[in-house]
Amino acid sequence: MSTLFISDLHLCSGRPRSNRSFFDFLEREARSARALYILGDLFEYWAGDDDLGDPFNATVVAALARLVASGVPTYLMHGNRDFVIGNAFARASGVTLLPDPTLFDLDGQAVLLMHGDTLCTLDLEYQAFRREARSQTWISALLHQPLAERKAAVEALRRRSEQEKRGKPAEIMDVAPAEVEAVLRRHGYPRLIHGHTHRPARHVHLVDGRACERWVLADWYQGGSYLACDASGCRAVQLSAN
Ligand code: MN
Repeated sequence: MSTLFISDLHLCSGRPRSNRSFFDFLEREARSARALYILGDLFEYWAGDDDLGDPFNATVVAALARLVASGVPTYLMHGNRDFVIGNAFARASGVTLLPDPTLFDLDGQAVLLMHGDTLCTLDLEYQAFRREARSQTWISALLHQPLAERKAAVEALRRRSEQEKRGKPAEIMDVAPAEVEAVLRRHGYPRLIHGHTHRPARHVHLVDGRACERWVLADWYQGGSYLACDASGCRAVQLSAN
């Protein structure tokens, strides 16, 4: 049995093709998995758990709950778009929230899971924003706004970040190799799996003479894709477009 990893689905009601790929994936491939790990940016944005009543959000939560009820443990890590997903979401969907980073043993191999944004240390502007936005003060100030205002604020933030991204050189938007090496060293040279950069690939980093595999997950803008890992290793699988 394989353990499956996905990220950067960016689900929102306005992207029906990605949504259908995701719902199909939960009903098919994910059903025979040993576990499913969602490594951030499941949603295009998440304004707060009081938005669970939104019809689209309720559909996603119900689909996750069906997978969990079928016996597939499902884990969710925050991305930079949905980091205010909280305990009410976890209770409603049955998923287990994971801290970023999470190190665990998979078939005797140490695997480190991250969303990936903390690896992009060359983007100083983003890292400064991240430090501020992940503070309890910032999050509780956000969650104290009425839901409608909050959705507008998060939407504006999202548009601003899209705009800023366009002005940034490509290498700044990718992981910083030195940071990847530091993280691999700090965690004992594991296999690293992350998303965020939307640059799916398998890299091998030689750190202190140790070869460490780094898998970057694909986004779901053009259909879906997942990483399947078992004792023999990992492979990226592209879902056929429908
Ligand atoms: Mn991201």
